Amino acid sequence: MTLPWYRKLHWQILVGLVLGLIFGIFAAISGWGEFTSDWIAPWGKIFINLLTLIAVPLVLASLITGVASLADTRRLSRIGGRTIMIYLGTTLVSLVIGLLLVNVVNPGSAVPEEMRERLIATYQQDAASRQDMADAARERGPLQPLVDMVPSNVFASVSNNRSMLQVVFFALFAGIALLMIPREKAQPLISFFDSLSELVIQMVEIIMRVAPFGVFCLLASTISDIAGDDPKQIIELLRALGLYGAVVIAGLTAHVFITYATLITFFTPKRLGDFFGVISPAQLVAFSTSSSGATLPVTMDVAEKKLGVSEEVSSFVLPLGATINMDGTGLYQAVAAVFIAQTIGLDLDLTAQVTIVLTAMLASIGTAAVPSAGIVMLVIILESINVPAAGIALILGIDRILDMCRTVVNVTGDLTVATVVASSEGQLRTHATE
Ligand code: ASP
Repeated sequence: MTLPWYRKLHWQILVGLVLGLIFGIFAAISGWGEFTSDWIAPWGKIFINLLTLIAVPLVLASLITGVASLADTRRLSRIGGRTIMIYLGTTLVSLVIGLLLVNVVNPGSAVPEEMRERLIATYQQDAASRQDMADAARERGPLQPLVDMVPSNVFASVSNNRSMLQVVFFALFAGIALLMIPREKAQPLISFFDSLSELVIQMVEIIMRVAPFGVFCLLASTISDIAGDDPKQIIELLRALGLYGAVVIAGLTAHVFITYATLITFFTPKRLGDFFGVISPAQLVAFSTSSSGATLPVTMDVAEKKLGVSEEVSSFVLPLGATINMDGTGLYQAVAAVFIAQTIGLDLDLTAQVTIVLTAMLASIGTAAVPSAGIVMLVIILESINVPAAGIALILGIDRILDMCRTVVNVTGDLTVATVVASSEGQLRTHATE
């Protein structure tokens, strides 16, 4: 039985999103900022908390069972190798698209001198605090990211949502070790984690029933926060940074409709319309939470139930992707780095642009799947090409909006790769759509 459109989840979420947008603008115009932050924003926060609450147990349980169910380590290295290759390949393409666009359009030249000074003055403090965070990250030597990946206490890692990469490491390690011990000894643990992942998936189903309301609250509060009680300010910001924002969004759109569309068309039996038609709940949640980590439970739900990706593939590819595959973030970081250089009048030669590709590749892997994480890593990229890191003050004003958009692309990328890998393994059901 097909449901009428208004009972379908993605339409309900979309309605929540549009109403949230309208409410946010209305609140900014009529000075309802305080009401919104007191009475609407907390519900949005609760919605994000609910999703984040189950993200760590989900990664842990599904990766361990995912790896352990692969039956042998050869299969794991084949699927793992393929997944990582496609993740890196798509990130590289996204960086090239971003760099091409920002060099051709040159949005830095569109920022008036007086606006540039104002932006730097307004966001200087925010920029300084982000720079401190990045400084701390960088001061610790070139191999530190690798060291950071290996936890010394797994309980400390699972109690920190920012340590997802450590959780992924532990889960992969435990899954591989489970493959190596006799099946009858491994079985109780596999059954335990299997049951845990079923539990979490059921919790996602329950949370998704309130998603339209959660998305409404998130959007309303984000918009009213961005605009403050002075919506004129946002119009001015958009005038100065509009072209830069447009380049980021055009790049993200091109990456989705060229790179991902090509992969889906040529490497899977799915029709493009079907693919994009069913993944929208994950995209909408990504847009309103700005966090691919918080969206992960929904991403997995969509992959398995709507796209027909087998549990075996989805439980391995998606938690890994949510942590290390961020094409949207990489593209944004490349555009932002060049835009800042353009605005302050620095010329970037080919070596600098290649350095951007390399550092953005690593930075997007190391970026945590939480709101605004991309801009912290941007500081590291800027310093690698000798652009003053304080330059991020220029772009902070519209960063939240771009964060929402790049998170959609991060999640879409994970879903695309999961579909491609499932198809290459013969593990994609073709009639999965309800
Ligand atoms: N918010 C992004 C994500 O969670 C990361 C970022 O670019 O800030 O995917």
